[in-house]
Amino acid sequence: MLKATGVCPVCEQATEFKSENPWLRDYFICVKCGSIPRERALAAVLSELRPNWRDLEIHESSPSSRVSARLARECGTYTATQYDLSTPFGTMSPDGGYRSEDLEAQTFADASFDLVITQDVFEHIFHPDRAAREIARTLRPGGLHIFTVPLVRKAQASGRRATISPDGAITHLLPAEYHQNPIDASGSLVTVDWGYDIAGHILNWSGMVTTIYSIDDLSRGIRAEFNEVLVSSKLMVAEL
Ligand SMILES: [Zn+2]
Repeated sequence: MLKATGVCPVCEQATEFKSENPWLRDYFICVKCGSIPRERALAAVLSELRPNWRDLEIHESSPSSRVSARLARECGTYTATQYDLSTPFGTMSPDGGYRSEDLEAQTFADASFDLVITQDVFEHIFHPDRAAREIARTLRPGGLHIFTVPLVRKAQASGRRATISPDGAITHLLPAEYHQNPIDASGSLVTVDWGYDIAGHILNWSGMVTTIYSIDDLSRGIRAEFNEVLVSSKLMVAEL
């Protein structure tokens, strides 16, 4: 049981944070908005690095959280996408709630966005190299990819759990592990167990420089295992 009072970075209200479960990552909620620690950590980093986020062009892949709802509500130039094989890529879903896109092969023009947000997506993709390159391509110079991903391997090398062949056959290198997926009841397969070396991989793949933020601050309800926020920057030409 953990209880704390403070201000929630997601709903920006004075609130109480509490968990009955020792696994804080999924259970340490804000009683006002229901957010969990990684959402509050992401919102805190977003507000610190881009306090003007409401005026920016934002792409979020696979939105699912309280943070996503707030971005959609308060940013008029926010685009949500989902990997939805029942809707042609580059077109809106029938209910208009999101655009169908493959994060690894996007239909967006180069330099379309100031910010790309992904929350617990990178542990589920088969070609993170392609996704990183596509994020770099679609960001404007000076743009940021702000994301969460569980760095379960910490200082150990990242490791593959599953691969896919060009014909779509999946090979499991480790026992299959799934996380919840808001648009697929069968869940999302974990493809990579990441460590801190993800930053080096992203640099090699895309040229983006990544900073890993680790925040522990009960006054903002930010405490949990695997709660890092990663920020990859597309450098300005002058910085190269
Ligand atoms: Zn809240």
